[in-house]
Order: sequence, then structure tokens, then C-alpha cells
Amino acid sequence: MRTGDDRPGDGRMDTRLIHDGRDPAGHAGAVNVPPYRASTILFPNVEALDSADPEFRGVRYGRTGTPSSHAFEQAMAALEGGDRAISFGSGLQAITTCLLAFLKAGDHLLMVDTCYGPTRAFCRRLGRLGIETTFYDPLIGAGIADLIRPETRVVFLESPGSQTFEVQDVPAIAAIAKARGCTVMIDNTWAAGVWFRPLAHGVDVSIQACTKYVAGHADANLGVAVCTAATAMAVKLTAVELGATAAADDLFLGLRGLRTLPLRLARHQDTGFALADWLAAQPEIARVLHPGRPDCPGHALWRRDFTGACGLFAVQFHQTLPTPALSALLDHLSLFGLGYSWGGYESLALPCDPRRSRSAVPWQGGTLLRLHAGLESPDDLIHDLSGGFDRLRKTL
Ligand SMILES: *Cc1c(COP(=O)(O)O)cnc(C)c1O
Repeated sequence: MRTGDDRPGDGRMDTRLIHDGRDPAGHAGAVNVPPYRASTILFPNVEALDSADPEFRGVRYGRTGTPSSHAFEQAMAALEGGDRAISFGSGLQAITTCLLAFLKAGDHLLMVDTCYGPTRAFCRRLGRLGIETTFYDPLIGAGIADLIRPETRVVFLESPGSQTFEVQDVPAIAAIAKARGCTVMIDNTWAAGVWFRPLAHGVDVSIQACTKYVAGHADANLGVAVCTAATAMAVKLTAVELGATAAADDLFLGLRGLRTLPLRLARHQDTGFALADWLAAQPEIARVLHPGRPDCPGHALWRRDFTGACGLFAVQFHQTLPTPALSALLDHLSLFGLGYSWGGYESLALPCDPRRSRSAVPWQGGTLLRLHAGLESPDDLIHDLSGGFDRLRKTL
């Protein structure tokens, strides 16, 4: 289960990721598509200038598409099994643009309570535009039916949830929402498009912050929306209207990252499980929130729908750690960095407080610490954490 990636019918994913989004013959034999830093595109004559490109498939102006974005989008659409992918300058830009593509004043949005914080913040802006949001329990499953109103246009999922990692019943929610005429979107960043393929489970638009595992080296801001044929044009048109676009160098880094994505993810996964096991045995830890562990809410759904886990998970302490205790634990770690984002090669630790960002299901209990297992040796990472726990114990 932790390594499976066989996809009958469309080739093995690892192989596809090496060959998709490349065109050596079109680039003087170069293995990689170079970053096309282009705004103006020159046309050979007036006829070409006047030609129509209603779906923005051609190269007419840098902001609306270049060989760099086309290559990245082709590879991402193939990875997630979509009709078309649209690239963005960040994961958040992909999310906000997709929401605006399908919502108008008077509409209602069902947003998962465990969504990424800035996604939640954007719902407040949607409110000012006359679009009402209801936040729902990530574990609601088929119960979503009771929350869908005649004016509900979009059901948005994120699975596992940000910070607390509840796994959603995506096929059940998608089937009910679609039957009621809603567009179904998911933030698929945790699975990186590799461990879970939402479109095969009934989702219309699968969004990723490629800033995380796809770029994979903490050096790019990049987003993508992988769409069905029925949803792609609405997303692309909205992106063009909003001026949403991805930078050439970030697209290049996204494509480069894709080549090693499964390899890196396998290592992030193994190290994540090793750290989770070690942390679960520490007496200060009340719970390990990792979809691959049986005590994580939605674990059975993860086993059913996912083929693996990334390196991001959280642990909850029995108590709320006062700042000096948290500092003792985290300030002198030598391998784990303190910082936002994740999915790079490096390990990270971040204290989180879901109490401030939950309304459907209040969050309770002690301090939550989110960890990203990087590509360092797992033994060295455990040694680093062990030193932190020793320092923590002296303060308690
Ligand atoms: C980081 C993140 C985003 C936003 O990505 P950016 O590229 O930083 O805008 C969206 N969703 C999730 C789950 C994330 O972790």
C-alpha cells in the first residue's frame, strides 16, 4: 500500500513523470523545456495577429500561456488524470481563482472546516461579495446532503485537513454534491497528486500548492488546478480575467521537481512514519495525527482511497505548553527549521493552534505541533527531536 503506483491503462506514474511535459525536438535537443521569460510574443503577419484562440491554447501573450506553462500543465493534467491543467503563481491563487470561477453573488459555498487558513480568510472576502459560506465537519461524509441548499454552487474539500489531518470521504461527498448540481473542488496538496487522484473519485477541480512537494526545494511559489473538460474553460477564463499567471522560472522548477517527485515522496513517507512512531512513544504526546496511523480520524478512508502518505503530520501534547517549554523544545533543534510552508527537502516544525480556525467542530486539547519529515537521515532527525524533548522535560 505504501508504494503502489501502478495505473493500468495510462502507464506507470514514475515513467510518465519522466517523459511528460518535455519536447527536446522543439528545443534544440535540450532535455528540459527552458524557462520562457516572455511578455510580448511576435506574430509573423496581420492574419496571425487577428487569428482567434478562444481557449488560450496558443502562445499569444506571456501572461496567458508560454511553452513553459503548457509543458507544466500537460504534465500535471496527465499526473492527476485531468482534461486540462491551469497553472498559477501560487497555491492560494489557484484556490481563489477557482472559487471565483464558479461563484457569484447570492450563491452558497460549502467549505470544509479544516481548510488551509488563507482559504478560510478568503471566504470572508467572498461574504463581502454576497457569497455565503458554511463550514462543515470534515468527517461529515454523506451527511453533506443535509447542508446543500438550492443556491449551493460549490463544495470545497481538503483531505487530509490542514493541521489536524482528518481524511474526508471524497467519493461520497462528490457523488452527492454533483447530483445536486454543485461543482466539487479539492485542495490535494498533501497527496501531491501522487498518493490520491481526486478526479477519479468524482471531483471536478483538483488544486495543488506546487510550492510544496512538486517544486520540492522551498524555492518557488506555484499552483495548479487540474480540471475536467466541463470545468477547465471557466477556470482558464477567470485566470485570464484576474491576470493570474505563473512565473517562468517557477514553472521550470515545478517541471524539474516533477521528475523526482515519487522518489522524494517515498522517502518523505518512510521518514514521516518513523518520526510518528518515535513521537507516539513519548509520554508527553497524547495523539499523533497522521492519516497512515489507525487512530487518525478517517484512517480507513485513507487506506481505501490513498496509495501513500507524505511527510507532513502533527502531534498533540497532553497539555498546552507554555512558551518557555515550547522554546526549550524547538529553539535549539539543529535539523528542524521553524517556518511556514512544507514539502521541501528540509525538515520543519511549526506550533499550530486550530482553535482559532474552526467553527463547525471546535478544537480542544493541548499544544499541536506540525512536523515535516525532510530527506535527512531518519536517525539523525530522531536524535535531534530527542534532544528537544530532553530540554522540554527540564522545563515541565
Ligand atoms: C501552502 C498551502 C497552500 C498555499 O500555497 P501557496 O503556494 O503558498 O499559496 C494551499 N493549500 C495548502 C494545503 C497548503 O499547505
